[in-house]
Amino acid sequence: MLNGMLSPNQIKVQQKVRNFVKEHIKPYAREWDAIGDIPDSAVKAWRDTGLFCLVAPKEVGGPELDTLSATIVLEELGYGCLGTATAFGANNLCSYPVLLAGTPEQKQKHFAPLLEGEFGAFALTEPCAGSDAGAVATTAVRDGAEYVLNGTKCYITEGGLAATFIIIASTDRSKGTKGLSAFIVERGRSGFSVGKVEDKMGIRASNTVELVLKNVRIPAWHMIGKEGEGMKLAMSTLDSGRLMVAAQAVGAARAALDESIEFVKKRIDNGKPLASQQSVAFKIADMATVIEAGRQLVHQGARLKDAHQPYSKHAAMTKLFCTDMAMQVARDAMDIMGAYGYTKDSYVEKIWRDSRILSIYEGTNEIQRVVISGSLLR
Ligand SMILES: Cc1cc2nc3c(=O)[nH]c(=O)nc-3n(C[C@H](O)[C@H](O)[C@H](O)COP(=O)(O)OP(=O)(O)OC[C@H]3O[C@@H](n4cnc5c(N)ncnc54)[C@H](O)[C@@H]3O)c2cc1C
Repeated sequence: MLNGMLSPNQIKVQQKVRNFVKEHIKPYAREWDAIGDIPDSAVKAWRDTGLFCLVAPKEVGGPELDTLSATIVLEELGYGCLGTATAFGANNLCSYPVLLAGTPEQKQKHFAPLLEGEFGAFALTEPCAGSDAGAVATTAVRDGAEYVLNGTKCYITEGGLAATFIIIASTDRSKGTKGLSAFIVERGRSGFSVGKVEDKMGIRASNTVELVLKNVRIPAWHMIGKEGEGMKLAMSTLDSGRLMVAAQAVGAARAALDESIEFVKKRIDNGKPLASQQSVAFKIADMATVIEAGRQLVHQGARLKDAHQPYSKHAAMTKLFCTDMAMQVARDAMDIMGAYGYTKDSYVEKIWRDSRILSIYEGTNEIQRVVISGSLLR
């Protein structure tokens, strides 16, 4: 891996998370995949690193990592287990709206549980509003000093475990996307419940659920920004999130590459290690090359964001490239390993299942193409 451009602090963070993954994630990831859960002890260990919410600002006691450092953390977590990376990443995803437009009071409210080791969740998707976020049908109606929320959210990461939620709801359905607003809703509010728990093919360590809101009353000051700013906040959140998903993809692909290298050095074919077959060695070379290309896209996107430059198109390109790349590398790794790669004895089987989600969540890769082509053809 080319580390030449990282600062001493970024290398320190990378090493810290790499050690964490080696000790606390990699040995247990298969078990968490099987049970569909991350034990509390592992969540606590992650909290104790001080990295439970990477983007939490210093003013509330958070680590306030720069974007490049955050992508480095997500690459390392993705290397260990994409399900765990998805679960731990949820705290960043749900924090961007608050970082972008939250008042000091809202920041205290939102970040306090996250810094204590509770999960947060970001809830935009609904049964009839996936790629078409403007179709959000959850409503938030002002009633005196409160808003009353009604609707159903689905496929919400860590939704069954989270203590605090960012809910995107419509305050004016006649205005479509311009009528959406963002709200902080805490677990335990009357009328707020967890519905269906998804049984997924991959990233099984993460929790994915339906959320049901029936006349949920929240104080009006829980609205982030102004009425009608929800779509803008959600889209900016997804721009950041896409860099993090791409970083996880790079980590997962790197894990598949490492498994492949280990395998081809040991597996004997015609009396020689498989690695001595040029077709196999070239495949390894190609895998390493696209992984490095993906990493450079991620780092460049992070640098653009840290420099407050526009990076929406770049984030979409990065997610598109890295998530397809991870799937292809996982497939190549499985091909190299033959039957063994297809069994649960190999770690590559899990990486292949886990990687499949990357081109779907936080905007499908068709939606990334919509963003990229839209910016080029306008
Ligand atoms: C494991 C998991 C975790 C998730 N976590 C969260 C979360 O934490 N919070 C949250 O809010 N959501 C979450 N999601 C939801 C996820 O973001 C959506 O599933 C995703 O945005 C796609 O929406 P959809 O599933 O409704 O697909 P659809 O929008 O129905 O798309 C179906 C197909 O049509 C294509 N398509 C749709 N519209 C267009 C278009 N305009 N142009 C070209 N092609 C198009 C899509 O690319 C796709 O191939 C999660 C989903 C999963 C599976």
